Amino acid sequence: MKNLSLYLFVMLFPMLLGAQTTYLHCGAVLDCKGSQASKEQTIIIEGNKIKEIVNGYAEVPEGAEAIDLKDQTVMPGFMDMHVHIEGELSPNRYSEVFRIDDVDVALRATIYCERTLMAGFTTVRDLGGTGVNVSLRTAINKGFVRGPRIITCEKSIATTGGHADPTNGYKPDLMGDPGPKEGVINSPEEARKAVRQRYKNGADCIKITATGGVLSVAKDGQGAQFTVEEVKAIVDAANDYGFVTAAHAHGAEGMKRAVLGGIHSIEHGTFMTEEVMDLMKEHGTFYVPTISAGRFVYDKAMNDENFFPAIIRPKAIEVGPQIQGTFAKAYKAGVKIAFGTDSGVSPHGDNAKEFQYMVEGGMSPYEAIKSATVSASELLRISGDYGTLEKGKMADIVAVKGDPLADIKLLQQVSFVMKDGKVYKRH
Ligand SMILES: [Zn+2]
Repeated sequence: MKNLSLYLFVMLFPMLLGAQTTYLHCGAVLDCKGSQASKEQTIIIEGNKIKEIVNGYAEVPEGAEAIDLKDQTVMPGFMDMHVHIEGELSPNRYSEVFRIDDVDVALRATIYCERTLMAGFTTVRDLGGTGVNVSLRTAINKGFVRGPRIITCEKSIATTGGHADPTNGYKPDLMGDPGPKEGVINSPEEARKAVRQRYKNGADCIKITATGGVLSVAKDGQGAQFTVEEVKAIVDAANDYGFVTAAHAHGAEGMKRAVLGGIHSIEHGTFMTEEVMDLMKEHGTFYVPTISAGRFVYDKAMNDENFFPAIIRPKAIEVGPQIQGTFAKAYKAGVKIAFGTDSGVSPHGDNAKEFQYMVEGGMSPYEAIKSATVSASELLRISGDYGTLEKGKMADIVAVKGDPLADIKLLQQVSFVMKDGKVYKRH
């Protein structure tokens, strides 16, 4: 009896203190601060924070949990700056909006959330959906659904007929005249209202579609769709709430106006000119390339003539193959790069293929990893808590077997995932 009480006391004591302690014995650590891996390290986690990182394999005290990652390389959790977590592209997508409701969207998306987290992405920025993404974020934060931490823009903001106008391509009586509430604006006043509405609806960030796009049922894939004044109004209103802003853009004029309006990141950036690159460097604007999306839509348009509606196919063929080359040029020119895939266009869970595409474009493997950790956390303004492995930071930690600096494709087989101090995957 006495032994049992002692046993219970020892087992329950850490719980009474409220914090589980975990020792990760790591074969190598890429902390994303230094320039190379540190061999044989122990990361000590208390609750949801990194308490300490020490050299060698530290002895594990009683009551603490030990996890053996001695054959693995350990990194900060990856962050994808451009996903659409609610759905996945398919030939049905354009008619499905009339058949499935928010509940269907939410239930399906739980699988996409799980796949994303299992692929090692502990944080994602959702750049546009129906608004269900807000509920998904909350459900994940409360522990009802397994998934990455989501920073969501709720709905994208567009101009009438612009890339994210939700009624593009409908017959006139279904088209209606969507306004700021639905994210469609045509003046600086409406722009401010659209941002405030996003805030009211529970968004965490703002996305605009600064030019035409590939996947909308509209002819133009790259022309400018906002005035500089409209962008400025959006960024000003967003700054009031501390929201980071992102602009989808394929053509140079739209990118230019977005950068001059103060936008924080350019997404896709397909036909980015040297002038735009210089402007981005001057303004400190991030570039989120989404090479994965370009490659995926090009591949589908070329190899499956029924995948896209006829109006979309030529745009996919023109835009798709450009992005990787633009990434290579922008990287060489010294534009700040943050990792993003546009997953939802490409399948959720394949996010880490982007690392391989970035390395093919000339980035070193470690820099590619840092674009998804350090740089992404800077763009999201959460670098105080995330993005590197160091004492005091949040315990978002992933690992792969082997050395990803020698073979970047290893990042596509994540074997360990911890988010907020909790283990979600372990092989
Ligand atoms: Zn997108």
